[in-house]
Amino acid sequence: MEDETYFSNNFDGARLNGVAYDGNDHYTIWITAENTPINVSPWYSFKVWTGKPREITIKLSYQDSRSRYYPKISLDGIHFKALDSTAFKVINPGEGEFGIKAAPEFAEITLRIGNKPTWISAQELYTSKRVQEWVDSLSIKPFISNYEIGKSHENRSMQLMEIKEYPNTKKALMIISRQHPPEVTGFLVMKSFMETISGDTEQAKNFRKEYDVFAVPLMNPDGVDNGHWRHNMGGIDLNRDWENFNQPETRSVRDFLNKKSNEGYEFVFGADFHSTWDDIYYPIDSTVIGRERKNCIRLD
Ligand SMILES: [Zn+2]
Repeated sequence: MEDETYFSNNFDGARLNGVAYDGNDHYTIWITAENTPINVSPWYSFKVWTGKPREITIKLSYQDSRSRYYPKISLDGIHFKALDSTAFKVINPGEGEFGIKAAPEFAEITLRIGNKPTWISAQELYTSKRVQEWVDSLSIKPFISNYEIGKSHENRSMQLMEIKEYPNTKKALMIISRQHPPEVTGFLVMKSFMETISGDTEQAKNFRKEYDVFAVPLMNPDGVDNGHWRHNMGGIDLNRDWENFNQPETRSVRDFLNKKSNEGYEFVFGADFHSTWDDIYYPIDSTVIGRERKNCIRLD
């Protein structure tokens, strides 16, 4: 009907678990996790449109969580910007200055919607398809290649990017990102890192004379495309599986590293790009060496 309003979660990266109409163009939506217990990273992403352009208000409510991510808005699903602050209201503000307790219990957003969809998302959408487009675009350079090193639970490709300009280099960096789907800003830093290393500056050229770079930009492609808060399709936080390797995603990286080590590679540096709260670096205690390092790794 022409004056009805529609919500959709029918796209990669979407998460919207329920909608209730409260009257007076006010809606309450439910955002729930893929499984529990889970870290409080309440990812959401959905589309809304109507037959009769109007202003609506949407209350976002979460399962055992609070309003962590400020809404980003898009009219094409690609270009996002933060919602205008005048359209954002908090309900039941949090306490303190840091962490989930400081976040409001609910968020309420007011939007002018029309015939074409408006995307509302916790962060901008970087689905597996969009990430692969970026990987392919960078792989146009003659010294960059990408290939599959394994499959995810849902049979998505675990893609590795390789930067190798000189045949005899045996020192390498290992880069991973996006174990946790909502951490898009961490992914964007990794993207910028890879573009800088493969750039035309003297610094980058000199760097590539000595080091190769191996990167898995999307460690959790299933979680990303299914709009997960945190886990893979096995219901596991991949960043807690680097000891037991029960998951195909972590195993693919382990097996790749073993293979390269057997080829004589020395991995001199590893970086795992996340984004959380206010932290910038999560260094490993450099005074501890060898296998005991596992006791000192900061996890996020
Ligand atoms: Zn993380």
